[in-house]
Amino acid sequence: MKKINESFTCINCGKEISQATKTCRNHCPHCFASLHVDSDIPGDRATDCWGRMYPTAYEIKNWQLKICFQCKKCWKIHRNKRADDDEVENLDMYIKKYKEVLY
Ligand SMILES: [Zn+2]
Ligand SMILES: [Zn+2]
Repeated sequence: MKKINESFTCINCGKEISQATKTCRNHCPHCFASLHVDSDIPGDRATDCWGRMYPTAYEIKNWQLKICFQCKKCWKIHRNKRADDDEVENLDMYIKKYKEVLY
């Protein structure tokens, strides 16, 4: 399966997001917003939902940070590993902020 990993402009903060080197990035490293383009496998681009996804929670397992994203359109939840250049120090703040938008 071919994974698509291209640069894009963030739908939320408007910053230009360059390609992630190791992981298949689908969320913004600054504000953590993303688009619902993947179905069950990260990078498969198998859905045509294209709703906005925002982080709602995160968990740490085996020293690895995983972020839960929820689609605002179909409410599907995705879990993604953080990317190396994610600004995770802001993640808590953004989760609280998006809660006000989502609920
Ligand atoms: Zn952004
Ligand atoms: Zn969706």
